[in-house]
Amino acid sequence: MEALGSDRDRMMGYYDNGCVAMTGWLGNLHGWAIGCVSAAIFGRCAIVLAQDSAGTEPPAGIRQLASKHLALYTDLPSQPEIDALPTLFDQAFGQWCAYFGVDEQQHVDWHVRAYLMKTREPFQAAGLLPADLPNFNGYARGDQIWLRDQTSVYYRRHLLLHEGTHSFMLSRIGGMGPSWFAEGMAELLATHRLEDGKLTLNYFPRQRDEVPKLGRIEIVQTGYASHRAVSLAKLFAYDHRGQQENQWYGWCWAAAAFLDSHPRYRARFRQLHKLVGDSDDHFNQQVMKIFVDDWTRLNEDWQLFVANLDYGYDFQKMDVEFTAGEPLGDGGQAISVAADRSWQSSGVRLEAGQSYRLRALGRYQVASEPRTWWCEPGGVTIRYYHGQPLGILLAAVRADDPIPQSPSGLLKPIVVGLGATLKIEQAGTLYLRINDSADSLGDNAGSLTVKITRGS
Ligand SMILES: [Zn+2]
Repeated sequence: MEALGSDRDRMMGYYDNGCVAMTGWLGNLHGWAIGCVSAAIFGRCAIVLAQDSAGTEPPAGIRQLASKHLALYTDLPSQPEIDALPTLFDQAFGQWCAYFGVDEQQHVDWHVRAYLMKTREPFQAAGLLPADLPNFNGYARGDQIWLRDQTSVYYRRHLLLHEGTHSFMLSRIGGMGPSWFAEGMAELLATHRLEDGKLTLNYFPRQRDEVPKLGRIEIVQTGYASHRAVSLAKLFAYDHRGQQENQWYGWCWAAAAFLDSHPRYRARFRQLHKLVGDSDDHFNQQVMKIFVDDWTRLNEDWQLFVANLDYGYDFQKMDVEFTAGEPLGDGGQAISVAADRSWQSSGVRLEAGQSYRLRALGRYQVASEPRTWWCEPGGVTIRYYHGQPLGILLAAVRADDPIPQSPSGLLKPIVVGLGATLKIEQAGTLYLRINDSADSLGDNAGSLTVKITRGS
């Protein structure tokens, strides 16, 4: 949806109809892209418009709304959701300052002019729409922002906050970093909730109807389902200038939301904005440096996030503790599996060429609303998730020392239900979980028991 154009001095462009298939740039390895391309370079522009200054009359057909940090020029008639934009922008200012560690008082004079256009003509006639701007949905240059009006009230605000984030980063912290970081941060901080007039930036949507026409989660879901998932290495390196790829913004948001939300990576991710004044190459080198010790782990966590991404993704419940198993003793073993967690190590190592028999029993809760739903390891067939009954027992075999960047064994669940025989091709530790979505583990309770023995 948003893309850079050709000249280096402009900051951003946003394209509504810019959905271009990503075919050709995703090296595909079991659905995971690998490879390396050059990074984008962003610059600043100090264009000065002749028109408008505080206190002057707005041009014909354009009205002006103002708050402390925003002057909004629009040809749209007065509507509460439009007239509220300047004060919402002021709320955003405080949150941008807090997120980036900027002293609000020192930047109290920061001021942006935004042009929200239903039609371009009045703005062109008034000289408020520079001829060198590309076709855009939203566009920021210095402390000016141009926005095409949107049919979605949510997305109109989102667009202002996206371009506002670019403008804030460039003028208040000295840069935006490479392409993935610039767009990732803009998408991260533009994704918001508005409740009773209170704006919350950096909001992880819990439901689709909270963010009409955003579609970032669906982009990642569709990408994964069609074997076009993007690896972090690919995302960090990709130069999207001149492209009009709606998908790009979905993946940038996903990476930023993942790194910013995940307890293991958040603190390190939140240091990266201090590097935005560096070259893109240096920025990305520093990224690799701060994640070098757990890079393999990070990539597997990213894979699991992408594969299971949903509204209301529960990072805490979805986190997996990787614990290598021990060979199974002659008497077999009983394993307890919590219903409210993602993959759990069984503590049992399965050997290649061997067969193992799993039998499961127990009764556990898979939902609490509108009433408690009880479930057994065979699952409930009145609700499905990923094509399988909700609550059904799943197994997966994960190599204890996985090849970096290779697809995680946890991406290939085996349906066990009440019982199954596993014939093991590649050795690894057995992991177990029940089938449920990443947003719904929190209302599960109880556990089941899995008995594992050798042979069929
Ligand atoms: Zn942008």
